[in-house]
Amino acid sequence: MKVKCILCDDIHDLLDNSLEAKRLRNHLDKVYMCSDCTSRITKKTESHSSDRRIPSFKKKQTEFI
Ligand SMILES: [Zn+2]
Repeated sequence: MKVKCILCDDIHDLLDNSLEAKRLRNHLDKVYMCSDCTSRITKKTESHSSDRRIPSFKKKQTEFI
């Protein structure tokens, strides 16, 4: 099965019996992304998510006398 990467427009061959080919055939709204593009996007996403600050909801502990 020939598939085209949505980002780089390279054409790749997938085995007809592979799980990814079956998913693409059965779910037409799914898009194919090659491994190079997937690793590139994952690297950028992880760098963005590591920069995000998570607000802290911890209450300040006060000392009662
Ligand atoms: Zn690609």
